[in-house]
Amino acid sequence: MNFLSTRGHTAKASFSDVLLAGLAPDGGLYLPESWPHIPAAEIAAFRGARYQEVAFAVLSRFTAGSFSDAELREAIEAAYSDFDAPDIAPLVQTADNQYLLELFHGPTLAFKDIALQILGQLFSRALAKRGGRATIVAATSGDTGSAAIAALGGLPNISVFVMHPKGRVSNVQRLQMTTSTHANVHNIALEGSFDDAQGIVKSLFADTDFADQISLTAVNSINFARIAAQCVYYFTATAALGKPATFVVPTGNFGDIFAGEAAFRMGLDVARLVIATNANDIMARALNEGVYESGISHATLSPSMDIQVASNFERALFEACDRDADWTAAAMNDFTRERRLGIPQEVLASLRSRYSAVACDDAETRAAIAAVYKGTGRIIDPHTAVGVAAALKMGPLEELTALSPVVVLSTAHPAKFPDAVAQAIGAPPPEPARLAGLKNLPERLEILANDPTLIKQFISSRLAA
Ligand SMILES: *Cc1c(COP(=O)(O)O)cnc(C)c1O
Repeated sequence: MNFLSTRGHTAKASFSDVLLAGLAPDGGLYLPESWPHIPAAEIAAFRGARYQEVAFAVLSRFTAGSFSDAELREAIEAAYSDFDAPDIAPLVQTADNQYLLELFHGPTLAFKDIALQILGQLFSRALAKRGGRATIVAATSGDTGSAAIAALGGLPNISVFVMHPKGRVSNVQRLQMTTSTHANVHNIALEGSFDDAQGIVKSLFADTDFADQISLTAVNSINFARIAAQCVYYFTATAALGKPATFVVPTGNFGDIFAGEAAFRMGLDVARLVIATNANDIMARALNEGVYESGISHATLSPSMDIQVASNFERALFEACDRDADWTAAAMNDFTRERRLGIPQEVLASLRSRYSAVACDDAETRAAIAAVYKGTGRIIDPHTAVGVAAALKMGPLEELTALSPVVVLSTAHPAKFPDAVAQAIGAPPPEPARLAGLKNLPERLEILANDPTLIKQFISSRLAA
């Protein structure tokens, strides 16, 4: 399988190239040259299959040529060996035709584990075959950082630098990152927002001398391997239901929901993809008003979605304009310059044929946590709650569920966000075993100003140490 860039000026790349590079050299994002097709009969047979089997069926279509079947199977088994749920991504019914797809049973209790655990396994195998080192620099709004550290901490020939916006992640999220004892893990608390951190990562990539010198790599959701791993649960959930679903996806960087589009392009019947955002509503405005425009970043109860640039949206735009790389490159350059992009009518119509978008504020988030608790006794996290609130806001729920089952992606364990939960239901959720004792461990982090030069110096000095 070969990959191309959404901006059209990158040589064809293999899965390993894409995995190790993250971002394409022309600044675009990698996508398969053409989408692999999974026949309907094979998808139907996923019903009742082990999650790992479905993961193999889906991922092998992308990794062919870079990893043998045996290597991929081994990586998948290792990746999902430390999950609390035997079926990895359980589908839980909450009411008639309403479901939660629980994606938080991995080591750091958020859905990022599902992709990053497998990415870490593939990464170390690819690096072992190719030789050399890799330096991973990740910007995180909270969950990517801890999941990357859990997946990559202690692996040979890899250094991991994780930048989180200082004071903008929950205590649990910070502790999960800063209490890692692995010598190859370096935490930076950036005096800025998540978008500032993401901007710094982009500028490090743009400095090609520096990037080459340290073998810079991204494991952010722009890495196609993550999208590939996230397609899998759209297949397992649909197969379990036996009919197409409306998926409501708490959205930040647009990676998780784009995996739904990827599954659709591979042959999965999907009723609709609903983008659920918090007050950082760039994606809701893009879909509903036709203008993709960054605003100021708001701190909300769902910090992992506090994002004003949804990087993976570039992939959806590229597909929606029928893969016109010249248009995509020009559009993204306009957006970088103006922080604003008017979406042409045909492109918007194509996006709207697949996606709807709803924004919810903190009050609606709290109300959704309280309503689910009252109705089912379940405690959901504030990101999942944005999804539930969005589904409620789409109109009468009976009308929505009459069309197709509604599946809200449950992206984090509530214990990662105890304060938000307490605000909604009066008490924090019980603490799971994985988090017990975290606050008694020593933390390691460096507080740094929002300045790319300073960050570069820090990385160089740590690598030289
Ligand atoms: C990362 C994250 C999201 C947003 O996912 P994207 O792929 O960035 O859209 C939602 N919820 C939680 C808990 C997350 O960690």
